[in-house]
Amino acid sequence: MAVVDSGPMSPVEPQPTPVVEAAGLTKRFGPIVAVDGAELTVPAGRIVGLLGPNGSGKTTLIRLLLGLVRPDTGRVTVLGRQVPDRSLLAEVGYMPQSDGIYHELTVWENIRFFGDLYGGLGRGRAREVLELVELDDRRHSLVADLSGGMRRRLSLACALVHRPRFLVLDEPTVGVDPALRATFWHHFRELAAGGTTILVSSHVMDEADRCDELVFMRSGRIIARGSGAELRASAGTADLEAAFLHFAGLGPDGRPVGDGDATAGRHPTGPGPA
Ligand code: ADP
Ligand code: MG
Repeated sequence: MAVVDSGPMSPVEPQPTPVVEAAGLTKRFGPIVAVDGAELTVPAGRIVGLLGPNGSGKTTLIRLLLGLVRPDTGRVTVLGRQVPDRSLLAEVGYMPQSDGIYHELTVWENIRFFGDLYGGLGRGRAREVLELVELDDRRHSLVADLSGGMRRRLSLACALVHRPRFLVLDEPTVGVDPALRATFWHHFRELAAGGTTILVSSHVMDEADRCDELVFMRSGRIIARGSGAELRASAGTADLEAAFLHFAGLGPDGRPVGDGDATAGRHPTGPGPA
């Protein structure tokens, strides 16, 4: 029997296995180091925000975690299984940055397609997710005829249809109006309260405070992590935008402070692929 000597007044609570454990992840595209030695843990039942400017490596990191690209170095486990692992398909939901839905199919056909892909879910569940994203009345519309915001909603519904334990959302609210953005975050909170673990990327800091934990990325590197309050406190700043600049070694004008910016000019920045 294992005995943990933590004293009678401080029982050690069993820690659930993290949903993601990644170590030493690096991915290069030619001369570009898109992800540079990333170490990441995503605890179960939390909403973790992955924040960084365009081109900082968020999408590549997400794709590495999902086993969609092969790392040059490093390893990843998701739900305790070494990635890539086909059995994870049924338990992970992924909303890509560019919608993975089919424009020549209707809303309903897309939902059924993704339901079947993940193991054949009933019409009841298909209706449920369409109601959740308020697209039930558009179920016979072709995706090609939907607005951008409606496509984002459908893409979210397709990622949710199989009730994944781990949900990965790559910039889910880009191009989404403020009311819908609030609705999305309401859903994310409800899902997390129900035990779903969520990793959500964003390049805008104003969504950061909706997350339980934040991971800041810049130039392929994870430069800081913690709760919003912790990051603000350790940066000594009032807002997260300023905290990000602090951890990136940048001044309030976004320019390197002194000669402390070791990552500047290491590879081109600018927007990543759509
Ligand atoms: P983010 O999602 O934070 O905008 P990305 O992961 O898309 O960042 O991109 C990180 C860097 O890797 C960028 O410089 C981008 O141009 C580059 N990159 C991403 N995917 C590819 C690819 N398939 N081929 C070449 N370069 C890529
Ligand atoms: Mg991206």
